[in-house]
Amino acid sequence: MSQRMQQGQPMIIMGEDAQRVQDKDAQEYNISAARGVAESVRSTLGPKGMDKMLVNSMGDVTITNDGVTILQEMDIDNPTAEMVVEVAETQEDEAGDGTTSAVAIAGELLKNAQDLLEQDIHPTAVIKGFNLASEYAREQVDEVATQVDPDDTETLKNVAETSMTGKGAELDKDVLADLVVRAVQGVTVEADDGSHVVDLANLNIETRTGRAAGESRLLTGAAIDKDPVHEDMPTDFESANVLLLNDPIEVEEADVDTSVNVDSPDQLQKFLDQEEEQLREKVDQIVDSGADVVFCQKGIDDLAQHYLAKEGVLAVRRTKKSDLTFLKNVLGAPIVTDLDSLSADDLAVGSVERDDDEELFYVEGEDAHGVTLLLYGTTEHVVDELERGIQDALDVVSTTVSDGRTLPGGGAVEVEIARRLRDYADSVEGREQLAVEAFADSLELIPRVLAENAGLDAIDLLVDLRAAHEAGDQNAGLDVFAGEVVDTADAGVVETAHAKEQAIASAAEAANLVLKIDDIISAGDLSTAGDGDEGGAPGGGMGGMGGMGGAM
Ligand code: ADP
Ligand code: MG
Repeated sequence: MSQRMQQGQPMIIMGEDAQRVQDKDAQEYNISAARGVAESVRSTLGPKGMDKMLVNSMGDVTITNDGVTILQEMDIDNPTAEMVVEVAETQEDEAGDGTTSAVAIAGELLKNAQDLLEQDIHPTAVIKGFNLASEYAREQVDEVATQVDPDDTETLKNVAETSMTGKGAELDKDVLADLVVRAVQGVTVEADDGSHVVDLANLNIETRTGRAAGESRLLTGAAIDKDPVHEDMPTDFESANVLLLNDPIEVEEADVDTSVNVDSPDQLQKFLDQEEEQLREKVDQIVDSGADVVFCQKGIDDLAQHYLAKEGVLAVRRTKKSDLTFLKNVLGAPIVTDLDSLSADDLAVGSVERDDDEELFYVEGEDAHGVTLLLYGTTEHVVDELERGIQDALDVVSTTVSDGRTLPGGGAVEVEIARRLRDYADSVEGREQLAVEAFADSLELIPRVLAENAGLDAIDLLVDLRAAHEAGDQNAGLDVFAGEVVDTADAGVVETAHAKEQAIASAAEAANLVLKIDDIISAGDLSTAGDGDEGGAPGGGMGGMGGMGGAM
């Protein structure tokens, strides 16, 4: 690269391989890339959505219906397309559900924006209109929302079921929705100001294969997937002093590296005695503290295991760090990092029960903090997808408990907000008005795709939906099973207001981000990030989408 300024010649600031795409071409290129990603997840939306099978470069297979999982596994390396992936990730972090909707809306916003740009409307006007519409739409979400009581188990179950429909969790959604609601209620506390705080850190999910999902259970306390280190150890305690330890019960590390010269059998014996003594001392420290049970994150020496068994202490080694942290919550005990400082104060009282069939320890604290969802699935793939579905359901139910607002699902809220946006558009001056209307059209993508994915006539149903909303029926949405317009709130299809607000906000932001770009300067050949078309011409469908590692 030459950066020397020469008289009368333009300064060259780009490398030889660099490519530059500007203005309309840049917009078109970016919009196509972003739309390509958005459209790839559309077919999974809703109860009748399909699943995707993703195979990564290691040959690992994921079968899922979950928007954010699909996009993350797709291994996209086009920068614009990545912005769409970020929409899904933000949605997942902030709301835990609604990722497919958020991404699909972002794609539709860009598609409609493209039409406006083709009519020579400046991107700035589109961006401004989208911002106005996004803000107004979110205000209206709040208007439409219904307040729900944190003790309203029926509604909470409906929220859980709506988020599970179409997922692996669907078949047993009755049982699972009930578990999810009880789990969330089990970790909810009422704050001084009367608000409800859900602490999901006090909730653990333990997955097992080999049984039907319907056999899943909710346990108070923790379930630890470990065996005792010695078969002679007691395994059941009604009331035990439990020690959580992150310090090895082994001979001190330093001794392992030091080489010891042994000249005589005597010396060897002395050395071994020393080691034995050290281990004995560690075990004595534990026994003297009054501990009956030790969950150790590190290793336990064979000899120490033997001593502990003799003393009637139950010991578990290499406890997962996450399990130890969870036990800390469940028991209210500290994690001891140095045996030398151990005292009786470091122990907590709890019950320990062994389940030999499942090879689990159930641990409960005195004043129970924390619950464990023991999730079953017939196979690994089944239980993985089940866990993703349950995770979404836990998030939406806990959001509903703390936020207290729900919305009618099945596209009802989108059609209602679109209707209100169109009324609002009349009050917007200039070309921004067209952008507000485009925003309204984009929201209606949700009922359209819900219908399409169910093999229904999307155009007819949208006409019916709009008519119902015009007539004042705010809850009119799609029953995709019956193929008709129903009151979705009555039908129990309910979503969280928070997730919807987030989806609208992040879709609008991502679309605006893409629209603002009028210049792409790439250090390399733009087409190499794509599907290999030599010309590198921008804007060709999925052109520019790199490395779609998944078998799509
Ligand atoms: P997302 O990743 O956006 O949550 P989903 O595949 O979970 O995508 O689909 C969510 C959409 O499906 C929402 O619009 C929701 O209202 C709708 N939905 C869920 N259950 C039903 C149902 N029983 N009938 C109609 N629509 C439903
Ligand atoms: Mg969902």
